[in-house]
Order: sequence, then structure tokens, then C-alpha cells
Amino acid sequence: MTEEKKVTRKKIRSTTVMNQYMADYFLDLDRCARTGERKVAWCTSVGPAELLHSFGFAVHYPENHGAMLGASRMATDLIPYANAIGYSPDICSYLTADIGSYLSNNTPLTKAYGIEKIPKPDLLVFDTNQCRDVQDWMSWYAKELKVPIYGIYAPKYPNEITNNLVQSMAKQTEDLIEPLEEISGEKFDIDKFREKLKLSRECTELWGKVLRTAAAKPSPMTFFDGTIQMGPAVVLRGTQQAVDYYNLLLSELEERIANGEGAVENEMHRLYWDGMPVWGRLRAHSELFANLNSCVLASTYCNSWIFSAFDENDPFYSMARAYAEIFIVRAEETKEKYIKEMIDLYQIDGIIYHDSKTCPANSNCRYGMHKRLETETGIPSLVINGDLNDLRLISDEQTKTNVEAFIEQLEEN
Ligand code: SF4
Repeated sequence: MTEEKKVTRKKIRSTTVMNQYMADYFLDLDRCARTGERKVAWCTSVGPAELLHSFGFAVHYPENHGAMLGASRMATDLIPYANAIGYSPDICSYLTADIGSYLSNNTPLTKAYGIEKIPKPDLLVFDTNQCRDVQDWMSWYAKELKVPIYGIYAPKYPNEITNNLVQSMAKQTEDLIEPLEEISGEKFDIDKFREKLKLSRECTELWGKVLRTAAAKPSPMTFFDGTIQMGPAVVLRGTQQAVDYYNLLLSELEERIANGEGAVENEMHRLYWDGMPVWGRLRAHSELFANLNSCVLASTYCNSWIFSAFDENDPFYSMARAYAEIFIVRAEETKEKYIKEMIDLYQIDGIIYHDSKTCPANSNCRYGMHKRLETETGIPSLVINGDLNDLRLISDEQTKTNVEAFIEQLEEN
């Protein structure tokens, strides 16, 4: 049996600054919704946020709210409200938790920032690049709140991102200009759009550098740190604040590398996480692995907000390309190639696949990928059954037993 020890979690100092930026963001959003100072748009997390920012919209991301519901462990109690109006417990638990939050008028924003209600939108925009659930989710709000809704429809599972594919998505994005002008009352300004895109690329490239610090031995950060630190890349990309924050965070992590300071004391096993985090168990999972001298240090999830393809000289086309080529929407072959690259980059000893019950789109072990990769690379894997938000779908004991057995197997190897 692997011997257990108790470790303390190493805090990232810069987080205090991030927390202030996040508070400013939510308070601004709330003020805009209450006073009409600026129009509010809701956008899916990998939707055309930069275009919305160029029109001056304050942008809210329902998936971010869904993750907050999970991390605050409010989701499990709120999901039944959405089930009661016909949404299955088997569909996205961001969706059901968020709609449940709306129906019960109960949001983590109240405790965190004193915000009474989710900021009401003037417009809803989605991109189906990640899954169909986002379309259904936004469509429900469009009816309920009687607000206009626009969508970008992405092709599913491409291996290759062809010119035709990108052009089709770029055209759909350009078609948003007219309604956005009407709703915002602002004329489209391509220079503002270019500026937002440039800032967004800078932010997400810095975020990529932050994540790549985990290639150092020992790794200065964990995947669990990453799920918190990715906040600005999700909700503040396109702003100078996000760029400033990742510069600050990067220097702190580089300092840790220079001092040989690992996020996990005595790092012996380097692990990769595929799939969604379990938001309500971030701390428990972080401690579980650290206590076993194991650092879960990289993931496909946190890497999903790196948009190096953004090019302000060709804004619509490059944005369409960046949002078309995200991991979640790609064919198995492309995904496998990507994970193999990650194994090499981060010198991975084992892979954890989270089979998240309500998110098939981001559970990559359902069609044998983990077994194929094991055969090809010799890197062992473990599948954890659970969910991103619904804690009724998780067995903590089972997870602990399976993880311990997996680490023992790595030790024997
Ligand atoms: S990708 Fe998964 S978690 Fe995200 S919105 Fe779609 S179903 Fe929900």
C-alpha cells in the first residue's frame, strides 16, 4: 500500500491580484446590467467575445457561472430545478446548474461579490464548436428573458481545418455585425476589433507560457492551480488587465523554477489530466494526488484557451480559425496526436481520464482512446468516473482507491 503523508497546498501569491481583477469584472458586469451603462452580452466560453468587446458589450460567460456553481458546491442542489422543467439529469450539468440557479434565484455571485442576480443580458451569442448543449442552454434563456440570440455553427470532428471550413465560420461571424450594431447602438469599428483580438492573443499566449512552465521538473504548478488561474483567460481576454496578470503570474512561476520549488513536495510521478475538472472536488483531488507524491501538472482542459491563430491583420478569418481548431471539437486522430505531444512535452508518467457523466463532448475515453494511446506510448492510464458539477455522480471512496492503486502501479513500474 502506498504510504500516505499530509502535505500543505502551496499558494500562488499572484492570486490576490487575480481575485481583485475578477471582482472588478463581476462588479462592472452587475453595474452595467442594473444601470444600462453598457449593454450586456452572454457568450459561450469559446465564442466571439473579442467582437462583442469591440462594440463595448460587458460580456458574461454562463459556463464560467456554471463552474462557480460547481466550485461552490451549490450545483448539486440546484440541478433538480432544471430537471423539474424537463432537462434531463444526464445533460450538461453546467446547463442544469445554471438554469437551476436562475429558477431558484440563487447565485454564488451573491456571497462572493454581493451581487443579487445573474446580470441580465441584452443579447445571447453561442458557438457550437464545443457541444450542442450551449445552443439549447442559450435558447432557453432567449425565450425566458425575451432577448435576441445569434449562433455560429461549427462542423463537428474535423481532422483538418480547411479553408472552406474557416471561411464559413468567418462569414457567420461577420454576419453578426449588423445585429450587434443595432443592439449596441455603436457602429462597427474594425480598429477596435483588431485591438481586442491583439490583446486576446497576447493574453492567451501568455497563458500558454504559464501552462508550459509545468514542463520543468519539479513542476511549479498543478492542473488544479490551472483551473483557478485560467479565470482571466476565460472572462478577461481582450483586456490589458489579463495581459498584465499573466505577466505577473509567469514571473512568479519562473521564480519557483529558478529556486527548484515544485508545486508538490517531492514530486515523483508526473500526471496528465484529460477531460473536465470535478469543480466541487478541486481541493480534495489536489490533496489526494499531492499526498501520493504525484503532480497532476497539465491538461487538455486548461490548454483550451490558447488562441495563437488570432491575427489582427486578418481578424475575422483568424478568429474563425482559432475557434474552429479547439481540441474538444476535433477528430479522435487529431486528439490522440495532440495528447502524444503533451506526453513528450511534460514528460508524463501516467494519464488520468475523467469520464464526466454529463459532458460526453469532453470525455475522451469513451471510444477506446485511452487504450489505444496506452498501446502506442506505453504510458498507463486510469479512468475516473464522475462529473464536472453533479456530486451525486461521484464516489469519493472509489476515486481514492483507484488513484492509490494506479500510483502503486506506477511505482512498481
Ligand atoms: S462542453 Fe461539456 S461542460 Fe461545456 S457546455 Fe458542453 S456539455 Fe457542458
